[in-house]
Amino acid sequence: MELSQRITRMIGKGGDGWDLFFKARAMADVGQPVVELTIGEHDIRTDPRILAAMDRAARGGHTGYAMMSGTDDLRDAVAARVQARTGVPTARENVLITPGGQSGLFAAHHAVCDDGDRALFIDPYYATYPGTIRAIGAQAVPVQARAEDAFQPRADDLAAAAPGAKSLLVNTPNNPTGAVYSRATLDGITRVCQKHDLWLISDEVYDTQVWDGAHLSPRALPGMAERTLVVGSMSKSHAMTGSRIGWLVGPRRAIAHLASLAIHTTYGVPGFIQDAALFALNEGPALEQEIAAPFARRRAIAMDILGRQNAIRALPPQGAMYMMLDIRATGLSGLDFAERLLAQHMIAVMPGESFGQAPAGHIRVALTVADARFAEAFQTLVDMASELAT
Ligand code: PLP
Repeated sequence: MELSQRITRMIGKGGDGWDLFFKARAMADVGQPVVELTIGEHDIRTDPRILAAMDRAARGGHTGYAMMSGTDDLRDAVAARVQARTGVPTARENVLITPGGQSGLFAAHHAVCDDGDRALFIDPYYATYPGTIRAIGAQAVPVQARAEDAFQPRADDLAAAAPGAKSLLVNTPNNPTGAVYSRATLDGITRVCQKHDLWLISDEVYDTQVWDGAHLSPRALPGMAERTLVVGSMSKSHAMTGSRIGWLVGPRRAIAHLASLAIHTTYGVPGFIQDAALFALNEGPALEQEIAAPFARRRAIAMDILGRQNAIRALPPQGAMYMMLDIRATGLSGLDFAERLLAQHMIAVMPGESFGQAPAGHIRVALTVADARFAEAFQTLVDMASELAT
């Protein structure tokens, strides 16, 4: 019996880029002391106050089917938050609550692309992007952002790919590069979207983790609110990765239609999770800053170590919980470097090649283990690179 192409083509010919992560996890599972600097998972658990709110909601009876597009209270809270942060008028009808940002990415492409449509995304990219686009039957078309431009995409490159495309997916603050798109970059993106009548899907799941400059949501730029779908999530901002809670913000008509996707797929997000998310949002920015703080500390530790060597080149990440390191001076590919680091030192990082062609010869380091252990592992990584480069 044949399986559908819709499912078999989701993972492209080059695999899905997660092999090294699975290998490291398998080693850790059998008790090997692997330092995992791979995925974007915090080294803290969800705050006990949020868990208490979840428990109260569940015991209080919010365990039945919840409203498919999200509870009114949570949609209102997300709308208020987005409006306060961006200045764009946003109401409950602009908000769909989703089971995490990944589900929002899927829903957004589902809403705007038909079979065979060209859907653009920027390379380097978060590893699920091409598969998400293929999953809804569209053509995933990468546009490279260059290392020499600090991975800010050029408007000219976007414009060259735009004719005939339906959508453009961008992500700022960016995973894997740590770039926060500048006003000039966003103006270029806006111009291309308007000229070629593209939907913009703006993945902003790291909007609470900005170390340099400021996060600017492209939905706030003139004329963009009616063509932008913003993907948000509480995974990174509130260390709620396992709760699967996020949102999509966009034009009312798109959000209204997306209720039918929720009805036919997830049937909404559990009510007690939504209540816990509401509690967490109502705690305000202090909690978000507390959750983001360790990444800023480890970024500083890493920059300090990098300042004392010259085998690795890296720009300080402007946002998010990762660093992209250029290890081309070692003569190895990102994959070979990562394999060697794991085999020789039990330190797991992601090969740049997992995130596209643009970051070949790079590795991505997640800032996700306790400071002292991070400092030791990062120093070992740098020492290995220095030995190879000499
Ligand atoms: N978008 C980006 C750029 C990510 O890095 C991630 C997770 O790592 C997601 C979306 C999906 O996150 P979640 O589904 O947990 O909200």
